[in-house]
Amino acid sequence: MSIIQQQHVIVTGASSGVGLYATEALIQQGWHVVMACRDLQKTMRVASQLQLNPTQFSIMKLDLGSLQSVREFVKDFESKGFPLHALLNNAASYQPRLKTPARSPEGFELSVATNHLGHFLLSRLLMPLLIQTQTSEQESNPNFQSRLVTLGTVTANSEEFGGKVPIPAPADLGDLAGLEHGFLDPIAMIDGKTFKAGKAYKDSKLCNMIISREMHRRYHDSTGIIFSTVYPGCVADTALFRDTPKAFQTIFPWFQKNITKGYVTQTLAGQRVTQVVVDKDFSSSGVHWSWGNRQVPGRQAFAQPLSAKATQLTMGIRLWELSNKLVGMAD
Ligand code: NAP
Repeated sequence: MSIIQQQHVIVTGASSGVGLYATEALIQQGWHVVMACRDLQKTMRVASQLQLNPTQFSIMKLDLGSLQSVREFVKDFESKGFPLHALLNNAASYQPRLKTPARSPEGFELSVATNHLGHFLLSRLLMPLLIQTQTSEQESNPNFQSRLVTLGTVTANSEEFGGKVPIPAPADLGDLAGLEHGFLDPIAMIDGKTFKAGKAYKDSKLCNMIISREMHRRYHDSTGIIFSTVYPGCVADTALFRDTPKAFQTIFPWFQKNITKGYVTQTLAGQRVTQVVVDKDFSSSGVHWSWGNRQVPGRQAFAQPLSAKATQLTMGIRLWELSNKLVGMAD
């Protein structure tokens, strides 16, 4: 089968953790994975360490923290003539020890710029290709639906215990005052309040879950594309936690394995996320899929209710409008 005939998925942040193991599992399912990563050499190295089949993946440069890089990635991708059956928005940056905000090239606080605004722009720019691929696939397979899957998390869902933890504060976008006022220095938080690095990450993940629902509301009925978010379990030993204190990096996985029983391996997390991208059991749109925080053998996924903060219609609409403005998209 030629590359063009394979099912194609873009995986952001495929150089590590969940994204890397999802790449492996997607390849095992016969898909062609475009590993969209900021560090090409690292990505080549890890792909070779896992002995990924070179005919089933491509590596392309994407720095989600830079809106220009997102636009260049989409242009490069389009120029290859690949179809796009699915987009997996997986990458994230978590820097909980920063005392002052890091900034994107456009001047936005970096974790929200990377995790939310970069993925927002990427998703918006790739929608036409998801629709086009779905239309041409449906000529031979009328039931085919493209998918846009985004990694969510418990720490941004106040319906769950993990979402109530006040260290440094639960996710809360307030009235979006920080975005309303342009999100540039000295503004560093979406709610316009004092910078708290750990909360900026949680806020960005809450944005991921809100925007997935808003995309479902705007596009699902008219296009048939499936939009969902997923929490595969606590993958407590990924590089996501690289900037936490060393003691935390030892204690946290132990705690998740032995006390909460929330721990899942990177391999299992990658396989679970892959199920959401490919399996017919996950073909409902507008759903947050979770494997919960008590892992037992044979644990099945379920549709997890999200908090009011993630489901309020007015919040979804306003976050969409303000994000459009910041990334330079028309409605
Ligand atoms: P990880 O191992 O640190 O992987 C994160 C990936 O994102 C890496 O490939 C990283 O690239 C990439 N990335 C970071 N900043 C980027 C940028 N500016 N541009 C492009 N790529 C960038 O973390 P993980 O645990 O697998 O996290 C994957 C997803 O799962 C995240 O969305 C996270 O929020 C979510 N999640 C994780 C857990 C967990 O327990 N680990 C729980 C809930 C949700 P580099 O390799 O170059 O650093």
